[in-house]
Amino acid sequence: MSRLEYYRDYELNRRDKSKAAENQKLRYKKNPEKFRKDKREWNANNREIKRESDRKSYIKNRKKRLIKTWEKRGVISDDFSKLYDDYDKAWFCGICLTDFKNNFDKCLDHNHTTGEFREFLCRKCNAHDHWKKVLAEY
Ligand SMILES: [Zn+2]
Repeated sequence: MSRLEYYRDYELNRRDKSKAAENQKLRYKKNPEKFRKDKREWNANNREIKRESDRKSYIKNRKKRLIKTWEKRGVISDDFSKLYDDYDKAWFCGICLTDFKNNFDKCLDHNHTTGEFREFLCRKCNAHDHWKKVLAEY
């Protein structure tokens, strides 16, 4: 096999992620102990790569993870995908109108009785519910 062919093959294999996952599963089944040990060793020797791939999958799974969290907290929505898009676009608090400092600062407030989405809030406003009484007066 020429070098070029090798790289082409490698590239094709790399793109076929389901195949790679399948191979991993097979290797795990064959020898779970060794698989775990090898993985641990590889991670220890490739900290930078591991960190980078963790970061990528963290971003990639952000939507899924957030929606799951909302569901767990009792948020009810017909369209979580749209809710996430709105969340992604929100950049200031619906109560104090301050810009969100970061994503951690951005919270989704919902009615704990009905599960209905209310506002995107900063962490501070979300933690204090004094304003909820104010809103109730409207
Ligand atoms: Zn606020």
